[in-house]
Amino acid sequence: MKVLKFGGTSVAGTSQIKQVGDILSDYYRKEVSFTVIVSALGGMTDLLFEMSRLASVGDGDYRLLYKEFCERHKKVTSDLLTGEYRVEALSAWEESFELLKNLLYGIFLLKEATPRTLDLVVSFGERSAAFLIATYLKQEGLPATFLDARYCIITDNNFGGARVNFERTNEALASYFATHEGIQVITGFLGATVDGLTTTLGRGGSDYTASIVAAALDADEIEIWTDVNGVLTADPGKVKRAFTIPFLTYGEAMEMSHFGAKVIYPPTLHPAMAKGIPLRIRNTFDRTFEGSLVTEYVEPSPMPVKGISSIHEVALITLQGSGMIGIPGTANRLFESLARVGCNVILITQGSSEHSITFAVKREEGIAAKNAVADSFALELEKGLIEPVRLENDLSVVAVIGEEMRYRPGIAGQLFSALGKNGINVMAIAQGSSELNISVVVAEEDEGKALNVLHDAFFLSDIKEVHLFMIGVGLIGQTLIKQMKEQAPFLRDRQGLAFKLIGLANSRRMTFSKEGIPFDTWQHTLDNTEAEKMDIDRFVEYMHSINLPSSVFIDCTASAEVAGYYEEILHENIAIVTPNKIATSSSLDRYRRLKFLSYRRNVPFLYETNVGAGLPILTTIKDLMDSGDRFIKVEGVLSGSLSYIFNTYKPGMKFSEVVKDARDRGYTEPDPREDLSGNDVRRKLIILGREIGLPLEEMEVEVASLLPPNCINATDVASFFDELEKENSHFDKMLEQSLIDGAVLRFIGKLEEGKARISLEAVKPDSPFYSLSGSDNMVVFKTERYKDRPLVVRGPGAGADVTAAGVFAELIKVGNN
Ligand code: ADP
Ligand code: ASP
Ligand code: MG
Repeated sequence: MKVLKFGGTSVAGTSQIKQVGDILSDYYRKEVSFTVIVSALGGMTDLLFEMSRLASVGDGDYRLLYKEFCERHKKVTSDLLTGEYRVEALSAWEESFELLKNLLYGIFLLKEATPRTLDLVVSFGERSAAFLIATYLKQEGLPATFLDARYCIITDNNFGGARVNFERTNEALASYFATHEGIQVITGFLGATVDGLTTTLGRGGSDYTASIVAAALDADEIEIWTDVNGVLTADPGKVKRAFTIPFLTYGEAMEMSHFGAKVIYPPTLHPAMAKGIPLRIRNTFDRTFEGSLVTEYVEPSPMPVKGISSIHEVALITLQGSGMIGIPGTANRLFESLARVGCNVILITQGSSEHSITFAVKREEGIAAKNAVADSFALELEKGLIEPVRLENDLSVVAVIGEEMRYRPGIAGQLFSALGKNGINVMAIAQGSSELNISVVVAEEDEGKALNVLHDAFFLSDIKEVHLFMIGVGLIGQTLIKQMKEQAPFLRDRQGLAFKLIGLANSRRMTFSKEGIPFDTWQHTLDNTEAEKMDIDRFVEYMHSINLPSSVFIDCTASAEVAGYYEEILHENIAIVTPNKIATSSSLDRYRRLKFLSYRRNVPFLYETNVGAGLPILTTIKDLMDSGDRFIKVEGVLSGSLSYIFNTYKPGMKFSEVVKDARDRGYTEPDPREDLSGNDVRRKLIILGREIGLPLEEMEVEVASLLPPNCINATDVASFFDELEKENSHFDKMLEQSLIDGAVLRFIGKLEEGKARISLEAVKPDSPFYSLSGSDNMVVFKTERYKDRPLVVRGPGAGADVTAAGVFAELIKVGNN
């Protein structure tokens, strides 16, 4: 015989109950013998609890909920049943709903709802459902009978979570079934004391009923029919990519359910396991799916971790002090004190120094547990042998589960590394000696992220998703998106990386999508009216609150305001990749804070494109530093704009015209003074200096400006060009002299003996800078190892393509981190 249990969502309304009818008719036609257990119609148990609560505080609105309860049942009855069946059910409702009404009125008058009364009230949910479904099955031609479990399931009087008296229950069930034929449709969740008082088995307890009945009747199999495809690798509400676990052992299923997988009520496993009855979890709404099968033995699977579960609203309590070391019986006293107040301990850890014991309980039991422990150790506390008991709230337990873990070393390492890389702090750790599960306690706000990170790490390690939040879609930003789109298939196949654009903003608007903003329609999405007005505080807050693993903030602006958020972002363990050089070139103190934060939190802060666009300049410095080289001198032509100007400027040309032409071609800033004043080069030189370890501030860089004061002080760009024209002869003279000397003009930044200088120099053919062409950048490193022939990095140092590619390369680095 099979025992089939249908949960609340499977019997939520008319269409669902019809599906249940189809499943059962099918079995019946195939001559499978079975017994049915049903829960209350979906949501009804909550509704019954809520109406009782309202009544108990004297709120007359309980009547509205009562009415909703009655009407829902009457509606389903009218839709589902016809003729005599409908009449039979409607008249049963009259009687039973009248009883419920009186019961609630009693609660309302007394302003009291004891657990005992509540059990009676909520029993109306399962009783009504089982009666309704039994009647429906009869109408469909099945020999069904309604059976109130209170006749057979005998419990103690622990109302709200009664314990089953198996001896009596097994006897009662056996004798009932021996004398009754046909298909029994039994109320889940309910029991009764020997005196006939109604009890319940705890929320979700209908699963347990199925297992109790199956064990008593030596059934061949239990089928739990629910609204998902079996036991999944994680709660599908929290981990989108969760998938069905086809086979689990009782132990694994027990751990999954104990650690929060609501799909099976934890005590369910015991009776089934004791009798070796297989348990199958199936989806009422997708019968084609085999679901999950829970048995004693399961073939070893290549994946050592079977599933990941979590419990939220957890409190952690710590007892510590020298008075505990080497004293036998401390743990015993501690747990006895908890048992006395009925606290259920979720997890325990004790340091091998025996100096402290930490345990987790549900949040609502936190204070009672703390007080119980404090009472029990009052003497030691008074003498100072034990520190005041510590209670921490707002935590969650996340557990990875699998029998195979015990044979596979390195699981814990993988777990902590995945959490660590995503900035999730672990407050306590426990591993059962059965090695069936490893549990960690994390902040409740990190629960979803931890589940996803671990799910990716253990199940989907072949593809890692990197979540991007990008501000700035100018030329560089746009090019970056284009490059990511083109390279996506390669990165997925060859590197196992998938970039997902979760947030995107320009200076006016911003938009978010948890599924990812498509790379080819981002513009439309951002221009769309649904995009919000840009508010950088909200943007940063969103990044934080969505708390996705492997998050990267990309700043493709030149904005000081955006750069002002970097510290906050790194604090949230979100990596930063940016060509914006404001943060790294402003005050030394800030630069150091950002570097320290990145190091301390182990979160990447990457800005290679701050100097020389995509050229590997900062990476080269880092490699040289890491491998122990020492810098003697660093020289560079660091401005693509100035390179272009001086490479173009030849005798017979007017300097002012060359500058104008460079500006018109987009080689300079809109106001070319930004380049000619040396400001841009100064920033780059500061960054280079800091990277090689010089504590440089902006004022310490000596810049011999190219421009005479009248040009610098001109009120706008047009008058600047007027002034520059007057100075053409000044530049001609410099050019002539350099030609006489066989030299060319280069604007060079130099770091030597702790000093930073920038000036226009006439360089001769023996200088590496002599042959520089176009808008190329060049940096020359003279180090201990590269003393005689310096190390040179040269190439295009500006342009959207190379800069975006530099940013992209760093994103890939973060992804592979
Ligand atoms: P029923 O009403 O059928 O008893 P429940 O709501 O009690 O259904 O349990 C099924 C729900 O459990 C699913 O809808 C799902 O949201 C949740 N759940 C949590 N963790 C898991 C998991 N690991 N696998 C499957 N479902 C899970
Ligand atoms: N109806 C009960 C509840 O909601 C029992 C169950 O569904 O298993 O808790
Ligand atoms: Mg359930």
